[in-house]
This record gives sequence, C-alpha cells and structure tokens, in this order.
Amino acid sequence: MTDALMPTYNRVDLSFEAGEGPYLITDQGDRYLDFASGIATTNLGHAHPHLVQALQAQAGRVWHVSNLWRIQESERLASRLAAATFADQVFFCNSGVEAFEAAIKLVRKYHDDNGQPGRYRVITVDGAFHGRSLNAISAAGSEKLLKGFAPQVDAFDHVGFNNTNELVNAITDETAAILVEPVQGDGGIRPADLEYLKALRRIADEHGLLLVLDEIQCGMGRTGKLFAHEWAGIAPDVMMSAKGLGGGMPIGACLATAEAAKGMTAGTHGSTFGGNPLATAVGNAVLDVMLAPGFLDGVDRVARDLWHRLQELAPRHASVIQEIRGAGLMLGIRCRDQVANTDLGAALRGHGLLTVPAADNVVRLLPPLVIDDSQVREAVDMIDAGCRQVAA
Ligand SMILES: *Cc1c(COP(=O)(O)O)cnc(C)c1O
Repeated sequence: MTDALMPTYNRVDLSFEAGEGPYLITDQGDRYLDFASGIATTNLGHAHPHLVQALQAQAGRVWHVSNLWRIQESERLASRLAAATFADQVFFCNSGVEAFEAAIKLVRKYHDDNGQPGRYRVITVDGAFHGRSLNAISAAGSEKLLKGFAPQVDAFDHVGFNNTNELVNAITDETAAILVEPVQGDGGIRPADLEYLKALRRIADEHGLLLVLDEIQCGMGRTGKLFAHEWAGIAPDVMMSAKGLGGGMPIGACLATAEAAKGMTAGTHGSTFGGNPLATAVGNAVLDVMLAPGFLDGVDRVARDLWHRLQELAPRHASVIQEIRGAGLMLGIRCRDQVANTDLGAALRGHGLLTVPAADNVVRLLPPLVIDDSQVREAVDMIDAGCRQVAA
C-alpha cells in the first residue's frame, strides 16, 4: 500500500476490479458477495445497466456547468424527490456531511428569520453519526471522533437515544431543532422506536423546534420504504440524504418543507458541484428504479426473508451472536462481548462475504437492495460458517 495516501483509514488489503450486481471481483479474480455496498451506498448493486447507461449518456453531453445556470437534471431530481416525500424543496451537495451542514444552516436561518437568532442549539442523541466536519463530530459528541480536534463546536446538546424525558428536559430558549437518525448506522444499527419518532414530532411542534432527520444511511429504500421515517407515519421538517441517492455517484441533498426553508434565499448557501449534471442524471436513474411499481415491496419481502433466517440462525451460535437487530436491509449482528466484531467480519470475509463494522461491537449487513432469495441463502450460509469458525 502506498504511503502517499494519508493513512486516515483502516483499510483491508483487497482491491476490486469489477462489480456485478451484488458481487465484487478482486484484481486476483476472487469473488465476494457484497453486504457492505460501499457503506449503504451502492443500493442498486454494481454496474446496474440503467445507471451505467444514464452516466454514459450524460458524460457524452455535459459534465459540469455550476449553479450559475439552470441544470435540468437537477430540477428534475428535486421535483421528483419533492413529489415522493414530505419535502417541497431540495438543496443538492456532494456528500452526507454537506447535507448535514446545509441542514444546520437552514435551521439557524429559519429561527433568525423568525426574529429569534438566539435559537441555534440542536439536540442530538447518543450513538449518532452525522459525518466528519467539525460541526458533525461535535453533533455526534463521541470521544472517539472528537479526540485531538478540540475545541468542539458548542452548538449541540446530547441526550440519550430513544429517551423522550431526557430530550424534553434539555430544551431551552436557545434550542432550535432536534436531530436524529431513524435507524442509527455507525452507532451500531439501532432503530428508533416508532413511538419515539412520533413523540419527537409532537415535542418539536409543542416547542416550535424543527425536526431534522438524518436518512443518509437508512434512506433511499434501505428499510423497504423510500425513507425510514415513513414507517412511523410522521414527516420531518428537514431531512438529509446522500449515500444511496447516487448509487455510488457522490451526491448529497438537504430536503425541507417550504416553511422550514423560507430563509434559504439567493446567496445564503451554495456549492460549486452541488446538483451537477453527472450526479443528478444518475440520481434520476436511481429513482427510476426505486420508484418503479413493486420495487420497494420487493425489498421489504427479501428483507423479511433475511431477518427470519438470521433470527433462526442466531440461537445456534449463541456464543457468538448476542442479537440480530435493525430494519429492512439494514441489519446488525451484535456480537457477544468476548467476540470482536472485526474478528467476525474477517471470518465472514474468509467465507466470501463483505460486511461493515459498527460501534457497539456490531457487524453491519448492508446488502444491495437488488439481492434475490438465492443470494440471501448464500449469505446466511456464509454467516453460519463464519460464526462456526469464530466459535471454534
Ligand atoms: C455516512 C453518513 C454521514 C456522512 O456522510 P459522508 O458522505 O461520509 O459525509 C452522515 N450521517 C449518516 C447517518 C451517515 O451514515
């Protein structure tokens, strides 16, 4: 491995040359079933013909023009996202953390426009992950992310996840918004209780706060709905998307109601690349597939099959698996304390299955949403073998 890359990642020594649907093939010719999906990003698998076609077609026309001009693919993607969600308006950027920054700026501007500039603090929860900017690591509040980067941005108040009492007690005159992930990803695949999400909506309304949801990992079909909060039957005021939105093309988005976004007028925010023709052409192609009739129902069906098979497997490996948890195709294997998630991950890799570690000693299973029944069985067999190996 080269020393020329800043060593900020713990990389596994594998390098992939090609991908086919849910499979990745290394430069050595080894084939892996990809339940990492580039961290919940290649939600339609690798080399999806419709996405490849959309990117190639756009690449031959125009790549980039900036937001000095109108961008038709960007307008179309914004309209379609608005039509498919609670949102009226969309701001495009290039990554998750930029969607987070846009959301935080929007929140401040909303209260400032309402004549309450002192309301700027955002309540966030334990186990949260919102990206790696100084704001985002301060929002998460975890020691691990913040170490060495003091001082943290003093604009976030941290409370327990799935705990409404602590949250209500943390609200002050300076509170502007509540921010949670409907299903925590990096924090260890921890789903918010649906009743908790409903309560957050009520609390936000009672206190004049904006409800901001981070659906960067759990959105874009991953739980069997386009966005995970739909399971709770609530609508946020603001939502962040990225990862699966581009199926592997770098794109992020901050979605909001017209009321919440009313302060985001010309000149208040921007991005050179945001919503560029290449990224939004692919984003539209992703929506073509995900919004096709029956697609999300298919995700739900295959996810339930995987869930039942894992629930059946878990007690047979009680010395390795403490719990299976999650929602849809965003599942976590919580390892017993005596088994390191990275050891189980390495064993699974040895049997041909790629996964992602998470906090709380969890192995994340994030398959592409296009897996079929036989690939579910293939993965469960690999998990069976990996657990047997780790137990031995
Ligand atoms: C990945 C992720 C982010 C950050 O996205 P980047 O594209 O890495 O900046 C933020 N929030 C959640 C929930 C994520 O999973």
